[in-house]
Amino acid sequence: MKDCIFCKIVRNEIPSYTVYEDDVVKAFLDISQGTPGHTLVIPKKHIANIFEYDPQLAAEVFSRIPKIARAVKASNPDIKGMNILNNNGQVAYQSVFHSHFHLVPRYTTHDDFSMTFKDNSNKYTAEDLKQIQNSIVDHMGD
Ligand code: AMP
Ligand code: ZN
Repeated sequence: MKDCIFCKIVRNEIPSYTVYEDDVVKAFLDISQGTPGHTLVIPKKHIANIFEYDPQLAAEVFSRIPKIARAVKASNPDIKGMNILNNNGQVAYQSVFHSHFHLVPRYTTHDDFSMTFKDNSNKYTAEDLKQIQNSIVDHMGD
């Protein structure tokens, strides 16, 4: 896509600190470096978000992530773990609308990355959960 910043990175029209690429994906340092080694993995094909993957592209992209994650982890002995994140839609904090996966190395539980979600389990009855379950299952063929 012409004006997409990540497509421009794929085409090497703007520079990136690329750590891996092949015919399907490109992996490069996230300019924000949330923690040192913060890396993005993107499909070379422009798709906006997770909802646009077909099974083949999903398999091809996901199958490359562990190898890249292992290399990032091995790059620094202080990396103890890693969060892998994929934001979809502005409401979910997506700011670049070319699908990408964040590999965020973790050094300590109080490094520069945090992620929390509320535990709302006490607000849901079994009936509520059953309804949500059924609604999702009903759409699984879509
Ligand atoms: P998200 O908010 O999930 O859409 O993530 C987009 C990420 O792209 C942000 O973490 C940015 O720091 C990163 N980013 C934006 N422009 C560039 C660029 N030119 N090179 C590397 N990373 C970038
Ligand atoms: Zn793009």
